[in-house]
Amino acid sequence: MRKKIVAGNWKMNLTLAQGEQLINDILQAGLTLKEGQEVVVATPFPYLLKAKALLKSYPGFYVAAQNCSSEKSGAYTGEVSAEMLQSIGVDYVILGHSERREYFHETNEMLAKKIDQVLANGLKPIFCCGEPLEVRKAETQNAYVAKQLEDSLYHLTEEQLKQVVIAYEPIWAIGTGLTASSAQAQDMHAFIRSQIANKFGREAALHMSILYGGSAKPGNAAELFSCPDVDGGLIGGASLVAADFVAIIEKL
Ligand code: PGA
Repeated sequence: MRKKIVAGNWKMNLTLAQGEQLINDILQAGLTLKEGQEVVVATPFPYLLKAKALLKSYPGFYVAAQNCSSEKSGAYTGEVSAEMLQSIGVDYVILGHSERREYFHETNEMLAKKIDQVLANGLKPIFCCGEPLEVRKAETQNAYVAKQLEDSLYHLTEEQLKQVVIAYEPIWAIGTGLTASSAQAQDMHAFIRSQIANKFGREAALHMSILYGGSAKPGNAAELFSCPDVDGGLIGGASLVAADFVAIIEKL
């Protein structure tokens, strides 16, 4: 069975004290995760060590970085390598979020290199894909997402691919309050899984957790998560409010 995951993407929000409070409030809720369920908290880099220390003794709770360098090490001022993240106990790395693609000009090719760095260091990538509004309007979203998968993931071996989690995040739904309908999410998730099956085989495809992201909240999480190919969510805004994040986790 594939893992069911709710991951909170804090983006560039919260102070250390606020982040600690948020994690403690989530833990206070006393969630009991079922077999195969995971909660991931993706904090800004400076808080990862602290977040890991707070979550370490809670089974099923993991920590993610929101990005890492495509280079191994060296003279890259301001960058953070996958090896550094591994050395402080980070579990996952979000890669290719649409905000990074848009504002920091990350390309599919650069993301292929980042994926390699993350996997080489024994971390798990949460690879984001998803189309902008004009592509959705033109109804060419499948071809658009297929190219993102092909350019960044198709060089991997089946063994490597099994470490990857995919997050489908339609850009028009991120932070806009517009959610993809559960039918739109299911259609795309099933399409992504079929692409993975064609390239890597059916077993790899069935093993792949595919998360939905884009204005997921307590009110729509149950319906989204009930879709057969939706294996959880990557949550932005609602992950900053403990009660909302917990309520979403409870819908897994
Ligand atoms: P949102 O963000 O839930 O605030 O729409 C999701 C994301 O960007 O990962």
